[in-house]
Amino acid sequence: MLVGRGLLGRLPELAPLPCHVALVMDENVAPLYGALVAEAIGRERVLAVTVPAGEAHKTLETVRDIYDKLLDARLDRQTTILAVGGGVVNDMAGFVAATYLRGVAFVTCPTTLLAMVDASVGGKTGVDVPQGKNLIGAFMQPTAVIADVDTLATLPPAELSAGMAEVIKHGLLAGGVLWAELGRLPWPLPAERWGDLVATAVQVKRDVVQEDPFERGRRALLNLGHTFAHAIEQVSQYAVAHGPAVAMGLACAAHLSAQLGHCAPNLPTDIEQLLTRCQLPTRIPAHLPAEALLAAMGSDKKKADGRLRFVLLRTPGEAFLEGDVPLAAVRETLNSMSKAQ
Ligand code: MG
Repeated sequence: MLVGRGLLGRLPELAPLPCHVALVMDENVAPLYGALVAEAIGRERVLAVTVPAGEAHKTLETVRDIYDKLLDARLDRQTTILAVGGGVVNDMAGFVAATYLRGVAFVTCPTTLLAMVDASVGGKTGVDVPQGKNLIGAFMQPTAVIADVDTLATLPPAELSAGMAEVIKHGLLAGGVLWAELGRLPWPLPAERWGDLVATAVQVKRDVVQEDPFERGRRALLNLGHTFAHAIEQVSQYAVAHGPAVAMGLACAAHLSAQLGHCAPNLPTDIEQLLTRCQLPTRIPAHLPAEALLAAMGSDKKKADGRLRFVLLRTPGEAFLEGDVPLAAVRETLNSMSKAQ
């Protein structure tokens, strides 16, 4: 993965793009970077495919539209699928790359902080279905990931905050230098500091994923806060976006850890202060009832053997998987983390 400034205009030097390129962007990103990227690669080699923006369109229907465009243009197996955009575009374009003509090359250029530090690493691709998020998909490793941090300048502040939820998660998993650095992070972060922060945060995920590419062990730790987050997203019918949901989920995971006696009682407060500084929420909206959230967790695909699993914390740098958390403890955490309290 390459992290730096001004990279999108230099794509052909930085990524292998041998023949035809199917450039997949959403309707927000296409007007910002479509021309720059197509120009850099050479317009005659590029088929631009624009998809509607937003998680609601991360569906098999949108994937089907992309297949149709590629098939109509008779793109062959030498084609590279190039995603430029956020996590939704990365996940869908990657899934298309994994399945089009049984698989073609995939290059991804994340343009949101969330996609840079999360979606673009690890090779998970796929779509949502009415039964839940990311239930249909494939592991597909991109041949190159190019993160141009200049694109962060056009992101709304809320999107930057959303990405920070995953950066903070990585800080909690890694501990050490990254966690210490986050403790004294100015917000908003000056433009020239994004490159280093993204590179450090992404390294945490790369290390974990390299050890466990198919999520049989350690990689499950990357789900810190995510059992809560996915339930919050699902019960809110995705009105709460992934980043804020992860922020709430991290706060919940810390409280659950403290409640079960695994971590120091001040850790939840430390985490909440950092989340708040980055303009992220720490409490679950009161209109999302604990019982509905518990039910949603029961259908989360990360459960094993019919029991709820949670990633819990001892200290920053020491997360672990707990396979048998008492339901009553989870209920208590959810009730105490509800905004109404
Ligand atoms: Mg995530």
